[in-house]
Amino acid sequence: MESNLKCRVCHSKDLKQFLSLGDIPPVNAFLDSSEISQERSYPLTLAYCPSCFLVQLESIVPPEHLFSHYLHLSSGSASNIEHLRNFSEILHARFNITLDTSILEIGSNDGTLLAFFKKYTSHLLGVDPAQNLMQLSQEHAIETLPKFFNSSLALDILKNKGAFDFIIALNVIPHTPDVIDLLEGVYTLLSLRGVLVMEGVYALETILQGEFDTIYHEHVYTFSFHSLISTFKRAKLCIVDVEKIPTQGGSLRIFAQREESASPPSPAVLALLKEEKEKGLTNPLIYQGVGAKVEKFKKDLRNLIEQETKQYGKLIGLGAPARGNVILNYCGLGTQDIEYIIDDTPLKQGKVTPGTHIPVKPWGALAHDNKRTFLLLSWNYKDSFFSKLKKQFSHSRVIIPFPHLEVNSLG
Ligand SMILES: [Zn+2]
Repeated sequence: MESNLKCRVCHSKDLKQFLSLGDIPPVNAFLDSSEISQERSYPLTLAYCPSCFLVQLESIVPPEHLFSHYLHLSSGSASNIEHLRNFSEILHARFNITLDTSILEIGSNDGTLLAFFKKYTSHLLGVDPAQNLMQLSQEHAIETLPKFFNSSLALDILKNKGAFDFIIALNVIPHTPDVIDLLEGVYTLLSLRGVLVMEGVYALETILQGEFDTIYHEHVYTFSFHSLISTFKRAKLCIVDVEKIPTQGGSLRIFAQREESASPPSPAVLALLKEEKEKGLTNPLIYQGVGAKVEKFKKDLRNLIEQETKQYGKLIGLGAPARGNVILNYCGLGTQDIEYIIDDTPLKQGKVTPGTHIPVKPWGALAHDNKRTFLLLSWNYKDSFFSKLKKQFSHSRVIIPFPHLEVNSLG
């Protein structure tokens, strides 16, 4: 556990802590019951840098503890597969991707996204440190280096494969403690007119409203667009376009190029900068009061769950995403409140949730429980859960934690 006293990007020594969620285990580390005794927790505390406005974890867990055995599969949910298919089509439509186009993906996971590009080009390379995903990406016939991407790996790749026309990094950059080194590697490997396309959760505004479930150890950084631009600039990369996308409750898709050959920034870049300023995201005062909002949520949710369990028995959780584990751990919920959680990721089924040790079961396990209240942990997939459950559970109620804590009826 490394403690962070300086801003990781601009090195200012004036970091200000503004939100502490206590000690929580890594929220993607689902366990077998036999592993519970070895489980470790780490503090989860957010700070902001008054110099560059970057919001960051005060201390970080070494990435090799988080990513060497990863249970989040790109192909784990139909909606994510659809998102990746769309992404490949959008990129193809926007840029002229031909048989000669080379594409590198950082954090290529099980190769799902790169496989969609196979119909356009064969110059594809994945990089992902998760050993347990190697076999899956081999099944997609995608060449994958089982490593963390950094500037020295970039030099090796440049020597062997040359520069790339596209580098894709979906939900990687906010997770990387040495983000400047990663971006310098991108700079090294991008061809002169090459484009970096990144996506990342855009959660600062929602965190400031008290929606804290995107804060976890993997998310070392919570970027504002302002802080992203200044971070990229340190690696001589220039953001040329940006769009808001709905994934993970709200994300940004960003297009960047090498500074010396970048296109002029699009109107969307200037508009988002203006929007952030108007919302006060660059004003240090906005960070005060977040802690009280988050504490109130905890109290309200616990009260609500107490009422529901008294009336209908223990709850059933819907979805076991990482963000759900932040809610469960911070609010002190466990098997006394929730009997089990259903999730369609096979790698999570049969295991228990980190920290709270609630069993995760497949959808089939729901068959005979039809009066209970549900807790929707995957609240960003509300519509798909509701349409799946409506018929069979029309008398049941569902607690929805965010964006506003409420109870809805399924019928
Ligand atoms: Zn800073």
